[in-house]
Amino acid sequence: MYDDLCLYIDGEFIKGGGRREQDVLNPADGSVIGKLPHASRDDLDRALTAAQRAFESWRKTSPLERSKILRRAGELLRERAAAIGRNIVLDQGKPLAEATAEAMSCAEHAEWHAEEGRRIYGRVIPPRQPNVRQLVLREPIGVCVAFTPWNFPASQAIRKIGAALGSGCTLVLKGPEDSPSAVVALARVFHDAGLPAGCLNIVWGVPHEVSDYLIRSPIVRKVSFTGSVPVGKQLAALAAQHMKRSTMELGGHSPVIVFDDAEVERAADLLQAFKFRNAGQVCVSPTRFYLHEKIYDRFMARFLDKTRAMKVGSGLEEGTRMGPLANTRRLPAMQSFVEDANARGGRIELGGERLSDKGNFFAPTIVTELPDDSLLMTAEPFGPIAPFVRFKEFDEVVRRANSLPFGLASYVFTTSTKNATAISNALEAGMVNINHFGMALAETPFGGIKDSGWGSEGGVETFDGYLNTKFVTQLD
Ligand code: NAD
Repeated sequence: MYDDLCLYIDGEFIKGGGRREQDVLNPADGSVIGKLPHASRDDLDRALTAAQRAFESWRKTSPLERSKILRRAGELLRERAAAIGRNIVLDQGKPLAEATAEAMSCAEHAEWHAEEGRRIYGRVIPPRQPNVRQLVLREPIGVCVAFTPWNFPASQAIRKIGAALGSGCTLVLKGPEDSPSAVVALARVFHDAGLPAGCLNIVWGVPHEVSDYLIRSPIVRKVSFTGSVPVGKQLAALAAQHMKRSTMELGGHSPVIVFDDAEVERAADLLQAFKFRNAGQVCVSPTRFYLHEKIYDRFMARFLDKTRAMKVGSGLEEGTRMGPLANTRRLPAMQSFVEDANARGGRIELGGERLSDKGNFFAPTIVTELPDDSLLMTAEPFGPIAPFVRFKEFDEVVRRANSLPFGLASYVFTTSTKNATAISNALEAGMVNINHFGMALAETPFGGIKDSGWGSEGGVETFDGYLNTKFVTQLD
């Protein structure tokens, strides 16, 4: 059974009542699996007012109490991970093992925010006179709004919920209408964990209408968005116009650099698995492969073999390694990369087309011999397609890797400590992975630079965007 979809406002699960409804589709076969109610203007106003009212008491609730609720949410997430994961497969498409792992990771994020929320410290600054005390206080910023995407519907939402609630803020969150079940499940988890009414509110609707209304509201003090660069720039501009803080986790086009001294087969195996995870619909997916010319052939042979052997199918089928694309919009997007590659003299080594008329299946696609200014080398693919090019020199590959406006993740494979140190200093990226993939853990900061956005989620940095700094100076 697919989840019962609803709004969650002021502690109430709401649907029906003549509200507009949107069909939710299973990307594996196009069937309608649910009806998602859209929030009316009244619903949005109620959510804002509830969040404002709840903030007055939640901000004063002790960090220990807040921590207990987040911890309980973590326990419930572990208990419910299998069911949440199955529903993610149904409305998002990824293989069941990936979906369940995503739900489990939410428990870790809830627990991390439970722990760190108890360590939001201020400081004492030594005064110039003995009878003065100077204090720095960190206070919750207020009512936050968040907009989360469909590629990781559970884990992208929990980071924003954990950061807001753990810091003493309250939240109105609009999840992804294409893949909504995980966000509804998170609302149920926090409700059952004893979160007071109004602290977390979930709304749905036409994305730009909801975000425009919420960001302009004088009740709102902070905006957090994960999604594409163009939308992020619009929302950041609107937030700035109303002098609201923002955290922007936007797209990337992650370079992968494999040096001639790398463990080539191991690198190819790891990268192959990571590239096609969630059908490549991952903001930190490895997407531009720069291979040293001396190991190019070896790497490509291994990567192609692994990709040919990969099973593509419904995420619920045994052995499926890659599911359908999450929504039909991604199919023409993939086709446009293939068309440009053909026009620019690229070679389609594998794939290049839709796999069936039913469902959003697109073949894992490998393209070689592309120029650096082709579409696939410059625009975020966000799908199961990857370009591979050669390089010769360290400085040359750094220049090419840094040449795009993005700055999210990057990957390097080398056995040389000298290369590893030099490249981690040189890459313009928010995250550098050397010889493995180690990002997106609850205890490590996740975020980009340049057009990929600002602010970090996770790590001790997670609360920075949700706190004001207040200076108090006091004379005896
Ligand atoms: P899109 O740019 O229309 O939307 C991206 C996300 O933002 C969606 O979740 C959407 O619901 C939301 N959104 C769109 N307009 C909005 C608005 N005005 N206010 C609030 N939310 C809004 O593209 P899409 O077709 O849904 O997704 C494809 C592109 O999105 C990809 O190219 C990829 O770059 C990007 N994306 C990035 C991430 C990420 O993790 N950084 C996640 C999902 C999508």
